[in-house]
This record gives sequence, C-alpha cells and structure tokens, in this order.
Amino acid sequence: MKLFQPKRVFFETAALDYPLGNEILNRLAGTEAEIQMLNSTNRVTGIPGKGPQQSFLEGKQTLVVGVKKNIHFDSCKPSADFEFSFASGCPGKCQYCYLQTHMGKKPYIKVYVNIDEIFAKIKEVASANSDITVFEAASASDPLSVEHITGALAKSIEFFGTLENARMRTVTKFTNVESLLQLKHLGHTRFRFSLNSAEIIHKFEHNTASLQERIQAANKIAAAGYPLGFIIAPLFIYPGYEEGYADLFRQLSQSLKNIPADMTFELISHRFTGSAKKIISERFPGSALDLDETSRRRKYGKYGLVKYVYPEMAYVRLKENIISLLGRFFPASPIEYFT
Ligand code: SF4
Repeated sequence: MKLFQPKRVFFETAALDYPLGNEILNRLAGTEAEIQMLNSTNRVTGIPGKGPQQSFLEGKQTLVVGVKKNIHFDSCKPSADFEFSFASGCPGKCQYCYLQTHMGKKPYIKVYVNIDEIFAKIKEVASANSDITVFEAASASDPLSVEHITGALAKSIEFFGTLENARMRTVTKFTNVESLLQLKHLGHTRFRFSLNSAEIIHKFEHNTASLQERIQAANKIAAAGYPLGFIIAPLFIYPGYEEGYADLFRQLSQSLKNIPADMTFELISHRFTGSAKKIISERFPGSALDLDETSRRRKYGKYGLVKYVYPEMAYVRLKENIISLLGRFFPASPIEYFT
C-alpha cells in the first residue's frame, strides 16, 4: 500500500532541538508537504476543514512533530504491564477505531522526537521491577504507519534489544517492515499484526493494508526472527461471522510460510461508548457498523464510563466459536486472552 505522506506538517520549535526533529525535517523537506513552525503556545490551529467529515479527513493528512512532556506510562492490561508512545494518532481510517474519541475534531498524527528521554524513563521503570517488564508501543497509534518518516520504531526495537529486563510489543495494520528486518532485536520485540475477516476489513478498515499484504509482512517479520503474534480485533458478530473468521484463519494458516512455536493470538470483542457512536455517525454517515446499544450489555469501565459490549450469552458463544476455530487451524498457538 501507499505510504502515508502528510499534506501539511507543523513543527513545535523545541522539536528542532533534538536530532530526530532535524532528521524528520530533512526527510520531509523534499516532499510536497507544506511545512510550518508552530508558535510558542504549540497550539495546532492551521488545519482547514468544516464539518465533521472534512475536518476528519484534513486532520488525518496532518502531521505534528513535537516533544513529549510529562513522560509517564499508564498500565496496559491485558496486553502488557505499561503502555508508552512515540506517536499518537494514525493515518488509517478504521471506522471502529478506539482513537475516534481521543484525538479531537481534526485528528492529526503527532510524533515525538525526544525518544531518548522516553527510553530513559523506560529503563527507570523496568529497573524498579524485579521481573521482566512488558511495554506496549501501539496503544495510542500504529507506530509502523509513520515509521518511514520517523524511524522511531527501529530505534525502539534496537533499544529494547539492549535491555535484559524489558520487552516491547507493537501491533500494526501496515506493512512497511523492510527497514526493521536487519535490526538487532534479540527477540525482545513481539510484532503483532491486527487482522479481521475479509468482510470487516473491506467495510470498515479504510486506508490500511489488505489482509494478504499483512500476512506477507508477517512472513517477513517471522523470517527475521521476531516473536510473532496476531490480534484479531475487534471481533464482530454478524450474519455468517463464523465462516468469515474460519476463512481468515484458513487463509492465514495456508499463507504463513512457517508457524513459529510461540506465535500468539489476542482476541478482543467489539465494544463502543456513546460518545464514540456519536462521532462515528458524524464522520461516517450511513455506516454499517453495528452501534445499536439496545442489542448490547452495559459494562462499566474506568471512571464509570459505560461501554456497550455483547450480551453475556452471545459473548460466550463468540468466544467458544473463535477459540474452537483457532484450535482447528492453529492447535499449538497460545491464546493470550479473550476480552
Ligand atoms: S490502523 Fe489501528 S490505530 Fe489506525 S485507524 Fe485503524 S484501528 Fe485506528
């Protein structure tokens, strides 16, 4: 697929105090991107677009290069101990994306250039723990989607390769993995690809790589010796979903050149909030996404936030069906969690 090329790029002035800020500036200088410096407030006000759809599209074509302040890591269960990020936002346009409610009306992509400061904090946090500490790199972004601009994922992979007591996990729907294949990762980064049934990818995962492209990239990552995994998310219940996911697992099992012994699966059923429904309906009018609260169960999350999840019986059936399909196609691969 075509790599993300921003239409406009805003730099925080302080970003140019860091080598990575200058590297990104040089990399983008020869492109068609319109480059501007932000003033001292760092407020991003120059993105055009009126109305929810145009604002969304213009935001998704905008990159901000900045410095991450207040570096701290939230916990990230069940996939890792902590999450950290060297980017936020994503050029993908998946309708169900959990970032819909996080990035404002014009959801620009932001990349951070002070990655050495982020690495120092990772070292500090990992040193305070007697066990191996696992860090998730993809909870605020899809880091591979901007890797050709920042190179930050490669730097992180090599950084974690130097740590005995920490591991990184990342996940992607993109496929530009070539720059990562020769890195000294020492098996300390688990690389997962996010997959779904053909129908869900086609209907809802706009501006991401095709299923076949993701599987090809997974083959390259496995051949380069990285621990490999797949996140099947969000799992939807729709007419014929069992066949849809059976086809996905069949295609995956036939297309993977080798199935590494420790290849993992993570399974996440679909859920949404009321505010996500409102935003998605404005950005994707007439969307076929199932956002009917009346057919869901209310689940209370952090700070009393209500999430609409599948009702108990439907959830249990979905779980049994997917686990049984994985048992058929990948009997030796561990399932890390189903949520
Ligand atoms: S690729 Fe991931 S982060 Fe990007 S829009 Fe899709 S779901 Fe969101």
